[in-house]
Amino acid sequence: MSIISDSLKRIKPSPTIAVTQKARELRAAGNDVIGLGAGEPDFDTPNNIKNAAIKAIKKGDTKYTAVDGTPALKKAVVRKFKRENNLNYSTDQITVGTGGKQVLYNTFMATLNKGDEVIIPAPFWVSYPDMVLLAGGKPKIVKCTEQEGFKLTAKKLKKAISKKTKWVILNSPSNPTGAGYTKKEIQNLAKVLVRNKKVYILSDDIYEHVKYDNFNFFTIAQISKLKERTLTMNGVSKSYAMTGWRIGYAAGPKDIIKAIGKIQSQSTSNPSSISQAAAVEALNGNQSFIKKRSNAFKERRDFVVKSLNSIKGISCLQPNGAFYVFPSCKGLLNKKTKLKTDTDFVKKLLEKKNVAVVQGSAFGLDGYFRISYATSMKNLKKAMDRIKSFCESLK
Ligand code: PMP
Ligand code: GLU
Repeated sequence: MSIISDSLKRIKPSPTIAVTQKARELRAAGNDVIGLGAGEPDFDTPNNIKNAAIKAIKKGDTKYTAVDGTPALKKAVVRKFKRENNLNYSTDQITVGTGGKQVLYNTFMATLNKGDEVIIPAPFWVSYPDMVLLAGGKPKIVKCTEQEGFKLTAKKLKKAISKKTKWVILNSPSNPTGAGYTKKEIQNLAKVLVRNKKVYILSDDIYEHVKYDNFNFFTIAQISKLKERTLTMNGVSKSYAMTGWRIGYAAGPKDIIKAIGKIQSQSTSNPSSISQAAAVEALNGNQSFIKKRSNAFKERRDFVVKSLNSIKGISCLQPNGAFYVFPSCKGLLNKKTKLKTDTDFVKKLLEKKNVAVVQGSAFGLDGYFRISYATSMKNLKKAMDRIKSFCESLK
């Protein structure tokens, strides 16, 4: 009999974290690896936020806090939703967890019964299906093509809904494609969901502030009649360059929020008191650096998309958000190159040229790979040269 549980056997370790770790190890062993695997901003956390944390330590905010967030942080989250999304919530509709990841995990643990289905548009962030599986649910993957801009359409959504559907996940701007849904596209999906009356919506808005070209961000609870059935998740990781601080939050129906708190009370208890104090400052403090950082990301996006499209066999859509691109490598998967899959492509790229990226199949769509361009222009220039020379060497 195995010591490992059956539920754990249903899942695999996070492939994005695995690639990032592999790049770290290769670098530590003296290899000149360029890591384009990690999905985290390379910028440092702004000083006002760091200082708030230092102040909290000195003041003695070093004890357990309320399990699902301090009153100060919940108030800051309520204000954020009002200010940025025109959404009204009370503090008992807010939960705070150790990263958006924990909030999502708790949500599925708190709401899924065996066999309940969760609609996940692909390409998807790697953790959604495995979290659903761990909670006993069934991921219902809906493939969204490059021609569709990698976005879910109302028609596909309607077809995917069954009697067992409990949730549909929306993630805009998206990890791994960077695709952002327009107001109209969200409203088209909302029409299907309003008619259906039962399905809940999980809106993962973690990349809300990483957007370009005057893309207008909308979240479904804000522009539909679905607020009562929507859990809107967000966090400070990406917007405020705070991935290591581990603070995420969500707003939604009180029964779900309470259930999430119940799980947290029996597992991790509160997220770090110091990080919560820092997150209060992030949400309430000066927001002007967000725009400046988006401009830096935009310069990198433009460079990476242009470079990739100049390589024979590679093609890449220009996304309007997040810090990822999701180029196709299908043109290089054939007998001549001896590469059969996107996994072969990324393995060889790392082996031959020391560039770490993540295979598209990890995100539910074969024939692509994900590049995170949240690194310096210097690194990106070197990486693009290497990718180009790798692709040319294949012919
Ligand atoms: N959702 C998406 C789409 C993400 O890319 C991430 C980052 N891994 C998260 C949620 C969770 O982020 P965090 O736990 O750092 O808040
Ligand atoms: N969201 C990031 C990524 O996709 C961080 C790693 C993870 O949590 O998966 O790379």
